[in-house]
Amino acid sequence: MGGETHLKMGPSPTYPKLAAGPVGKKIHNIYADRLRMFMSDGQYREQNLPPKIIDASASGAEWIKLSVYSPPDLSRPTFKEATSHDFTPTSVGKAFGPSWSTHWFRIQLTVPKELKDKEHLEFRWDANNEGLIWTESGDVIHGLTGGGERVEWVLPESYRDGKEHVFYIEMACNKMFGNAPGGDSIQPPSSDTYFQLHTADIVAINLEARGLYFDFWEIGDASREFPGDSWESHKAGVIGNSIMDTFIAGNGSNEAIKECRKIARKYLGDKVDSEKVYGGDQEAIVSGIGHCHIDTCWLWPWAETKRKVARSWSNQCDLIDRYPELRFCASQAQQYKWLETLYPGVFDRVKQKVKEGTFQPIGGSWVEHDTNMPSGESLVRQFVAGQRFFESRFGQRCKTFWLPDTFGYSTQLPQICQLAGMSRFFTQKLSWNNINNFPHTTFNWVALDGSQVICHMAPSETYTAEANFGDVKRSVTQHKSLDQDHTSLLVFGKGDGGGGPTYQHIEKLRRCRGISDKVGLLPRLKLGGSVDDFFDKLEKKIEDGTDLVTWYGELYFELHRGTYTTQANNKRNNRYSEILLHDLEYLGTLASIKDSEYKYPKSEIDEMWENVLLCQFHDCLPGSSIEMCYDDSDELYAKVFATGEKLLKGAMKALGFGHPKETTTGKLIGLNTLPWSRTELVKPANVLEPYHLVNGDGILDVRPMLSAYPATSASIKETSQGVYELSNSQFKVEVSDGVITSLYDLAAKREVIPKGKKGNQLVIFDDKPLYWQAWDVEVYHLDSRKELHAAKTSITESGPHRASVEVETKISEHSWIKTTISLAAAIGDNPSYVEMSSEVEWRETMKFLKVEFPVDIVNQEASYETQFGIVRRPTHYNTTWDMAKFEVCCHKWADLSEAGYGVSILNESKYGFATCGDLMRLSLLRAPKAPDAHADMGRHHIRYAILPHTGPLSTLTIRTARAFNSPLHLGTHASPASIAPLLSSLRISGADNLVLDTVKRGEDDKDMPSIGLPLRKDRSVIVRMYDAMGGKSRGVLSWGVLDVKRVEKCNVLEDDGEEISIVETEVLVDGERTSKGVEIEVRAFEVATYRLVLAD
Ligand SMILES: [Zn+2]
Repeated sequence: MGGETHLKMGPSPTYPKLAAGPVGKKIHNIYADRLRMFMSDGQYREQNLPPKIIDASASGAEWIKLSVYSPPDLSRPTFKEATSHDFTPTSVGKAFGPSWSTHWFRIQLTVPKELKDKEHLEFRWDANNEGLIWTESGDVIHGLTGGGERVEWVLPESYRDGKEHVFYIEMACNKMFGNAPGGDSIQPPSSDTYFQLHTADIVAINLEARGLYFDFWEIGDASREFPGDSWESHKAGVIGNSIMDTFIAGNGSNEAIKECRKIARKYLGDKVDSEKVYGGDQEAIVSGIGHCHIDTCWLWPWAETKRKVARSWSNQCDLIDRYPELRFCASQAQQYKWLETLYPGVFDRVKQKVKEGTFQPIGGSWVEHDTNMPSGESLVRQFVAGQRFFESRFGQRCKTFWLPDTFGYSTQLPQICQLAGMSRFFTQKLSWNNINNFPHTTFNWVALDGSQVICHMAPSETYTAEANFGDVKRSVTQHKSLDQDHTSLLVFGKGDGGGGPTYQHIEKLRRCRGISDKVGLLPRLKLGGSVDDFFDKLEKKIEDGTDLVTWYGELYFELHRGTYTTQANNKRNNRYSEILLHDLEYLGTLASIKDSEYKYPKSEIDEMWENVLLCQFHDCLPGSSIEMCYDDSDELYAKVFATGEKLLKGAMKALGFGHPKETTTGKLIGLNTLPWSRTELVKPANVLEPYHLVNGDGILDVRPMLSAYPATSASIKETSQGVYELSNSQFKVEVSDGVITSLYDLAAKREVIPKGKKGNQLVIFDDKPLYWQAWDVEVYHLDSRKELHAAKTSITESGPHRASVEVETKISEHSWIKTTISLAAAIGDNPSYVEMSSEVEWRETMKFLKVEFPVDIVNQEASYETQFGIVRRPTHYNTTWDMAKFEVCCHKWADLSEAGYGVSILNESKYGFATCGDLMRLSLLRAPKAPDAHADMGRHHIRYAILPHTGPLSTLTIRTARAFNSPLHLGTHASPASIAPLLSSLRISGADNLVLDTVKRGEDDKDMPSIGLPLRKDRSVIVRMYDAMGGKSRGVLSWGVLDVKRVEKCNVLEDDGEEISIVETEVLVDGERTSKGVEIEVRAFEVATYRLVLAD
């Protein structure tokens, strides 16, 4: 046989010997550009593919009768209320408004005979605003986005019976990004937008034509986006042109379309019409997950978010039914709770899908919160409230913390995540950095205490991907950790009002996978898994020896630095409510131990926390929402404060306290909620001598100041015209022309303010960032610094308890500041500080107000309080990474210290700070005009202080700042001695750096209301502490008069860990007591939680 083969070699008998004629090279760019014509809406539209997709349609009153009910006053009635009203006839072409109003449409729809046998029928509705479709009986079916996005609802088969069917649409007069005028969505919303209903049609879809549309879309993208020197790009171009030629040759007929699709399969494979395309067993490296980033408030009020959740998630339930490969993840327990309360039908559908594994709760937190400003305990409670909700409703906790859009990530998050049962973290926002490019995609993120989580930042650099070819491609081309691992997540789906993934997204992704399998080059994508599956594989890899790169400390976001300052009142409310909740939980716990009649108000406290946590949402607390959101949050905070005050009174009453004015029924005493002794001056109401000295541990003596410390006093004198000298036994302060020109530490013999410099100097900056007004302050604002000058200084208090001058400063025609600079009598060696208390009338436009403290301290790093610890940042601009931190976040204090001496600046409601060289600068107020046109306008009250200290940064700063934020409670008590031991029962001894931060009752104690999780058989006290200075420490946690039978070290979710043995120990808390306790060892910056099980 071999011989015969040999004989037949040589020119093929069929290959033409003569050229048929000239054949030209296809000029690549021309043939590539041509592909766009086939899909576009331009001049050739009618000749091309898009018109073929709609096979037939019906509109008008014969088939679609419309009537409407428009509720008054921008109200949002329920389905039941709305549909009980009369509906009046209306029609396509009418306009509805104004902004934020709701309109209920009754739709009577009959499918015409000619359409009833068509393969796929849709109802299309578009008024360029959002809508929700309800059945006649009040079930939610489907959400609509408007403006050409998600305008269709696939009609049920039952509608083809030729009869009239009724359903409703609840129209919301806002677009997916609210009601901003013009094209700039961050401008304040207009109040009078009207929306014209322009589409209400029944359409029959030619599914083959639609299929070809997606085929061609992806082939066209492959031709354009694969490298020009790749054969894969050229082949896509050839196939695309061939499809167009075939379509033209067949005149766009159905047969031609079928032919075209056959050609497309040469590039896409033959499985792209179903989920089977994912059936191959080749390794897929990109995991696609559907998501809908719903901002809990932003360019719309919370009431609208509640509807956005129902619209979006009902869409996803529907889409999962039609596309079995789709997996959808949704975060924010608050949104689930709203759905459960307001849309129980949708919630049940979600619950079913969660059970099936297709709808995946994620994140573990109450909302996708800001992480810069909430306190440590707030971060903990985000997870406690979130994880408990997920566990109680779905029987599962989340393993991945999900925070794609928050503005920077504080340094202790990995530790708190681990303590809340999460070892993974997904984010993306750092890709918005406008100075330095963050260098990793997948890495270990390490907290102050050494705890780590695996962090992944989607290389497609979006959490709202349109599922385009380019997104899949960038999953490798922008992957920065390929040396360690080349897998990644692709998070796709429209956010906010967009309702999550669309069928278009899924159709496109099927074709992307087809391309990877058939042609290659495009990273292979898969659907059908979960974010946890992705991380599980990653963890496995690491177990097998892959070392991930590490990133220690905060993930500082190099943008949106204005969010530490914008919406000052909201931030102050956040701080105040955190302090209030601390005190309430502490006193409520003690009250519940003292008085068996007293009921620990767990449900009310939970509700307060939920409101506070909600207001920490990443556009609320940072100040980047519209005015309506702050009206909402003001209302919530008012509720939190009212409830808190009432409950606090209840707890104090149970502890035997009366009102401070009821002096006849007992002795006036102070009540300390901090876990260490305090000595302070207070000004009780209705008492003759204005200042009293309060000191002690849990219960504090209140005595007239002079009788307690006769030698102690503060004084003031005017040394020359406009120059005042305030002094006490520790400091001499010179105030000249309204600024501090000298602050002399008598014991240290040291001047704090450098010669010729001015402390407490108010400065104002022009504040016009590149775009995001409420969010950003840009580096160049520093060049516009202007000093404000005092108009008048006068003595307002002249001692002996306190010396004060009031400085009046005019900012402009409309704005002014009155600052009271005070120095109180120093009591013994208790720390003394210069306190500033300001009243500001603020009516500026795009200005930034700050206050400066130049100090005679040398250090290349400054320290700032962060949650459960300290973050150190450069005071110089050596590198672009250093310079990027020209404005940073701090909590209650910032500190600049050298070896033997330092200065702390304390505040009670601010978060923005900068230290540049020896200049410390506290940010006070901003005046952005978008998205809230009136942000921060009006009256403000601000307190801050300068605390010089001998020695480096120490617990002195931590404790003083804490006390500066926690005013003492005063009350009368018939027998203070009887209650004193209880009020100083929980103490840590032997380690001053351990801060006993939170005391509360156990979440699932037997006497607590159940939220659906099993209750325990015992009662317990939860004690949370942390090392505040950064060093391993041993100490004793003792509980005085509490009857504790067992101590468990637990995580923040209060799962028991290891039992710790109780020891009888000498603890000198108030000088003499012995107490039982446990010996504890806490790592540097560790957050440690203990469950003290009570004996009863
Ligand atoms: Zn967001």
